[in-house]
Amino acid sequence: MEKNKLNTLPKRNEINPQYTWNLEDLYPSDEACKKDMENLKASLNSLLEYQDKLTSSSDNLFSCLSLYDKFSEIVEKVYVYSHMKLHQDTSNSLYQALSDKAKALSIDFSSASSFIIPEILKASDETLKSYLNENKDLKLYSHLINDLLRQKEHILSKEEELLLAKTSEIGNIPQTVFSMLNDADISFPSIKDENDEEIEVTKGRYIQLMESSNRNIRKAAFKSLYSSYIKQKNTLAAIYNGSVKKDVFYSSVRNFSSALESALFKDNISVEVYDNLINTVHEYLPYMHKYVSLRKKFLELDELHMYDLYVPIIKDMDIKISYEEAKEIVKKGLKPLGEEYIKVVDKAFNNRWIDVYENKGKRSGAYSWGAYGTHPYILLNYQDNINNVFTLAHEIGHAIHSYYSDENQPYVYAQYPIFLAEVASTINESLLMHYLLETTKDNKKRAYLINHFIEQFRGTLFRQTMFAEFEKITHEMVEKGEALTSESLCSIYRDLNIKYYGPDIVVDLEIDYEWARIPHFYNAFYVYKYATGYSAAIALSNKILNNEKDALNNYMTFLKSGGSDYPINILKKAGVDMTNPQPIQKALKLFKNLLEELEKMQ
Ligand SMILES: [Zn+2]
Repeated sequence: MEKNKLNTLPKRNEINPQYTWNLEDLYPSDEACKKDMENLKASLNSLLEYQDKLTSSSDNLFSCLSLYDKFSEIVEKVYVYSHMKLHQDTSNSLYQALSDKAKALSIDFSSASSFIIPEILKASDETLKSYLNENKDLKLYSHLINDLLRQKEHILSKEEELLLAKTSEIGNIPQTVFSMLNDADISFPSIKDENDEEIEVTKGRYIQLMESSNRNIRKAAFKSLYSSYIKQKNTLAAIYNGSVKKDVFYSSVRNFSSALESALFKDNISVEVYDNLINTVHEYLPYMHKYVSLRKKFLELDELHMYDLYVPIIKDMDIKISYEEAKEIVKKGLKPLGEEYIKVVDKAFNNRWIDVYENKGKRSGAYSWGAYGTHPYILLNYQDNINNVFTLAHEIGHAIHSYYSDENQPYVYAQYPIFLAEVASTINESLLMHYLLETTKDNKKRAYLINHFIEQFRGTLFRQTMFAEFEKITHEMVEKGEALTSESLCSIYRDLNIKYYGPDIVVDLEIDYEWARIPHFYNAFYVYKYATGYSAAIALSNKILNNEKDALNNYMTFLKSGGSDYPINILKKAGVDMTNPQPIQKALKLFKNLLEELEKMQ
């Protein structure tokens, strides 16, 4: 089947240009891009003229930072252009070469500018503060400089920093070893499909197999995947133990009270935001348990196993929605965001910001990307179904967030931080969902939509919070001097699964080993951002839908803020305070309401 599909896929040049993105808005030609690369390469050394005298005057500091921004903007633009060209057809060797060149240039740029932050950190607080007072131009960089000043209390002596810098490669070893094992060495036993033919189990195919309506296939895929991890259980526990020990080591030498505090410090987020998330989700776990029971009833199973969690409880509706129809639906769904917003959506639709259809060699999935100074772009692989309409709304959310931030912020603050990244995209999906539920009368269609929404809550809010809780427990254990072994990790993980999914699921032995296969665990205390971002977005979309006073204005301010302040402050201005349980409660109340509606439908 896969092969047939590849044969029938059109070639890049067979796609109607109307449905392709217009990269000429970035560069009129490849030559123009190459010229930018060459010019920049030749001028990179001019940055080094500031080395060792960066903070000797406020003028020096300002000129160097603006030169850095100027170069960085070009590096970003050539990188984005060459990679987007490559993504159109990844087998194109011309663009493989061009994107490699762009990558090399960005590495050269990082090394030429690597002296900047250490030199700023070396200067005294008084000096930097007086520079900010005396030099009007430098005020542009005050958030950046103040943020560096904030980090100073965790910077050690020159000798100690030198020593720590030398350990950084060793510190990366657990993650490297894990990804070698997980991406290169591990393989999974094949399983049989309904026609008794062998299917290879791969990580890429796993979720699709878990969504199979054939229970034997789901079960076999689940057993196959975990059998390979279980075989390596002691090795995997030792690697993870090493990674947690690394986190604890760096946080303690830098005088943080915990690895968690140290990880959140970068975004200036307090531990209470993290605890708040976990505690509030705990309050609503009875509803997750209820959903699990409901799922069991919908699927008409005597026992619900972990491998029954992903199969849709309402069979795919097979509603065909063309791209032209999808655009209209998305616009109707986003109407609560006001005319100004819809005008930008129209710009995206009418001016070829979007690369719509799949072609031979095109990068899979969907994303929004772009460079400062030019409008954002969206890559899709649009298929005529409802999920792809949600993907379009999601990516439009990212793109228009970037559009407003770029228009309203200087280069240095245009990029929004990860903590905020999924807010605009989730708001769009939530508004679209609201619109579809309002306008869909057919019960089965409604049940399908509600289940889609509930599954998002499960995957983003509950599951990521469970991950966040696991990371908190493991790091606290190591901080107390306890060892992480395969047995202790499995027991923590089993308890969490029982706690989150409740009494109506069989907690299969295999799931105890899920910790062993999650790459995000090697980038500790990261996944909670998905859960907080999702909650903030649901809370904000509620405010907008309820026409709360200033809700829309505050949200537009959010879209225009980029990374000009700390993420918690930007969200506060938008109308949600993540230091308080309220936004998470609001999101979870919606989950509860959706669940009650689904319950009535069975
Ligand atoms: Zn996204």
